[in-house]
Amino acid sequence: MAHRVTLIPGDGIGPELTEATRRVLEATGVEFDWDVQEAGADVMEAHGGNPLPEETLESVRRNGVALKGPITTPIGEGFRSVNVGMRVLLDLYAQVRPCKTYPGVRTRYSDVDLVIVRETTEDIYAGIEFEEGTPEARELAGWLAAHGQRLPQPDSGLSLKPISITGSRRVFEFAFDYARRLGRRKVTCVHKANIMKFTDGLWLRTAREVAAENTDVEFDDRIADNMCMQLVQHPEDYDVLVLPNLYGDIISDLAAGLIGGLGVAPGANYGEGVAVFEPTHGSAPKYAGQNRANPIAQMLSGVMMLHHIGEGDAADRLEGAIAELIREGRSVTYDMKPTRNDPTAVGTSDVADALIAKLRS
Ligand code: NAD
Repeated sequence: MAHRVTLIPGDGIGPELTEATRRVLEATGVEFDWDVQEAGADVMEAHGGNPLPEETLESVRRNGVALKGPITTPIGEGFRSVNVGMRVLLDLYAQVRPCKTYPGVRTRYSDVDLVIVRETTEDIYAGIEFEEGTPEARELAGWLAAHGQRLPQPDSGLSLKPISITGSRRVFEFAFDYARRLGRRKVTCVHKANIMKFTDGLWLRTAREVAAENTDVEFDDRIADNMCMQLVQHPEDYDVLVLPNLYGDIISDLAAGLIGGLGVAPGANYGEGVAVFEPTHGSAPKYAGQNRANPIAQMLSGVMMLHHIGEGDAADRLEGAIAELIREGRSVTYDMKPTRNDPTAVGTSDVADALIAKLRS
C-alpha cells in the first residue's frame, strides 16, 4: 500500500529540493500518496495572515509523517518562525541531525559519524521575550529587583529560558532509545550547568537520572564551549550528543561543517506519533529558482524518512546511490566541487536524474 505522506515544499530553494527528493524517493520503487500542503510567507495572504495554515498542521497530525522543505523567517517583522511554530504546535520535541562523512566530500575530516539530538520546544527558543522599554519589560525588571535580581543595565530586552524536568526527561529517553535502536555506543549530555544551575543544571541532573535507567549505553557529559573544541579536535570520540535547543542549533551547524557543509546535512523532528523530515539548512533565498542548490541534505532527510516508515531496504539503496554519486564527484552541485565556480557543476534536477539512473541500473 502507498505511504500517505504530507509534502510541504516550503519556499526559497525548498520547492526545487523537495521535487528532486520526491522523484528519487519514488525511483526506489516505494509507493507514496503525497498530501501536498502549504506553509511560509508566500501563502500568508491566502490564509488570513497565517504562514502556518491549520490544514497543514492537521495533515501532518493525520498522516504522522511529513517531508518538509526549508521555510524563510523574515527578520524583524513580528512574524513567528514557521519552523519553530511547527515544532511547538506539533510538539516535535526531538530533532535528530546525523552528521556523517561520505568519502569524496570536501572536508578536513574523514571519519565523522555523529548524531545531534536537540530538544526543540524549550530553552531560550520558547519565544518568551519582553522588548526593551515596554511596560512589561519594566514591570518584570521591577519584579526581579524586588526578588533580589538586578539587571546589569536597566535598558535591557529580556528572554526567558525555561528548561523543565518533563522536557529534559523525554528527550533523553528518546536519545537513549534512538542510540539503542541504531546500535550507537555513547550518549553525551551537552550543557553549561556550571553557569546556569537552575536550567542547564536541571538538564544535566535529569540526563544522569535517565542514564542510570539505561546503563547498557555509555554516558558522559561535556560543557558546551569545551564540546565545540573537542568536536573540532577529536570528533571521532563522540557518538550521540544531546543538547538543549540553542546549543543544539549552533553545534549542529558546526557538525555540518565537519562533514562538508549544509548541503549534505539531513535532519528530522520527532514527537509522539509524528515526524517531520527536513534538512539542517535554510531556504537560501539567493539561490531560489536557479536549479543550483544541493538537494542531497533534503534527500538524506528522505532516507531517514524511509527508515522511519519501515522501508529500510529502499533507504539503504538510496543512501548507497547518494554515497556513490558523492564518491564519483561528477553529478554534484557547485558546493561539492573543488571550486565554487567549477563549470562542471550540475543543477539540482541533474542530481536527481543521476540518482534515478543509479537506482534503476
Ligand atoms: P541557509 O542555510 O538558508 O543558507 C546559508 C548559506 O548556506 C546559503 O547562502 C548557501 O551558500 C548555503 N546553502 C544552504 N543550503 C544549501 C544547499 N542546499 N545547497 C547549496 N548551498 C546551500 O541559512 P540562512 O541564510 O541563515 O537562512 C535563510 C532563511 O532560511 C532564513 O529565513 C532562516 O530563518 C531560514 N531557515 C529555515 C530553516 C528551516 O526551514 N528549517 C532552517 C534554517 C534557516
